[in-house]
Amino acid sequence: MAHFNYLIVGGGMTADAAARSIREIDAPGAIGIVGAEPDPPYNRPPLSKGLWKGEAEDTVWRKPELPGVTLHLGRRVVSVDPRGKRLTDDRGTMHTFDRLLLATGGTPRRLPFESEHIIYFRTLADYRKLRTLAARPRRFAVVGGGFIGSEVAAALRMQDRDVVMLVPETGLGARVFPAELSRFLADYYREKGVEMRTGEGLAGLREEQGGKTIVRTTTQKEFEADIVVAGLGIEPNVDLAEHAGLQVENGIVVDAHCRSSHPSIFAAGDVANFPNPALETRIRVEHEDNANTMGKVAGENMAGQATPYDHLPFFYSDLFDLGYEAVGDLDARQETFADWKERFREGVIYYLKGGRVRGVLLWNTFGKVDAARALIAQPGPFNAGSLKGRI
Ligand SMILES: Cc1cc2nc3c(=O)[nH]c(=O)nc-3n(C[C@H](O)[C@H](O)[C@H](O)COP(=O)(O)OP(=O)(O)OC[C@H]3O[C@@H](n4cnc5c(N)ncnc54)[C@H](O)[C@@H]3O)c2cc1C
Repeated sequence: MAHFNYLIVGGGMTADAAARSIREIDAPGAIGIVGAEPDPPYNRPPLSKGLWKGEAEDTVWRKPELPGVTLHLGRRVVSVDPRGKRLTDDRGTMHTFDRLLLATGGTPRRLPFESEHIIYFRTLADYRKLRTLAARPRRFAVVGGGFIGSEVAAALRMQDRDVVMLVPETGLGARVFPAELSRFLADYYREKGVEMRTGEGLAGLREEQGGKTIVRTTTQKEFEADIVVAGLGIEPNVDLAEHAGLQVENGIVVDAHCRSSHPSIFAAGDVANFPNPALETRIRVEHEDNANTMGKVAGENMAGQATPYDHLPFFYSDLFDLGYEAVGDLDARQETFADWKERFREGVIYYLKGGRVRGVLLWNTFGKVDAARALIAQPGPFNAGSLKGRI
């Protein structure tokens, strides 16, 4: 059993950012990270982007190496005792702590059937597996038209592989993008050679002799695939928090200082539900900027500061040769105003609620994230006319 002044559960980007900021404030403090994956902290976004475009695998590692942090990798924490300030991992090892950070992220949602031919794409190990499979001409079925599905389909297609996408909605990114942009994207993927099946979900899988998998869709059609990649979103890993009696509601509920309902336990990153001043509501964000920035702030507060987490995170994605950055609440159900420089190729889309800008999509438009944040902070009221040419 070891004692840590600062103990972090989860070895992802949030954990790494927190450990670094703790170390900056408390040079001698003992910091430990217990992470279920075998790898030290790494950046996830390149797994579905840069690594498929020629970037070397070792560019994912977070640099420089974490200073004086004890890493317990390949170990899953199975219980946290807030009263006794200790936790136990799956090998029965116990650690005690003064302050704990839960940076447990999320787990991919699973399909209701098991098959060794399904990959739930989340980790470096998943990337390595898919990369090896994609080295040979195989046919891939990608299920889901959200971030992961869209990026993985593009990555596989860029390796010249056969890709079929099953997207239950009418277009790609349908929850985020206005309908016409979402439909354009589906056609754009078709132009890139993806067999795009919109309005069709996955209903079942059947293994044939010889290793082939037959995919049955919700419209009762069947096709053959070698591998299925599922991108169905994630569920926040809240089990530990729940069993420890912490408040949980769509993630671990934290205050403006990333503190959970227990004063010595903090949470940050994909798993945390936090109050956001700009949007005036609680949010849980599954993006890199949030992982890095919230992790840093949580670390500072664990080390005794009182830094509010008032950042409005941005996110980004690459889809073949299109790319975007976005800030705020991008919910396709909101009223939107599209200000195109070139339709579907370059422009800005504003998401409005009650006359206020709640989200901004910067489509092939870069370096404008701060301007978008400033607009979201403004009281308005805004309408389409007042937004033209605004960013
Ligand atoms: C392929 C991919 C591409 C992405 N691309 C983008 C992008 O382009 N832009 C963007 O903004 N965001 C992107 N994201 C999202 C971004 O990577 C996440 O928001 C970020 O990784 C969240 O970091 P986290 O540390 O909070 O959680 P996670 O990355 O989920 O890390 C949590 C870690 O905790 C471990 N863990 C969980 N429970 C336990 C336990 N009980 N004991 C020990 N360890 C545990 C998990 O195994 C995991 O390693 C992408 C994500 C993926 C998967």
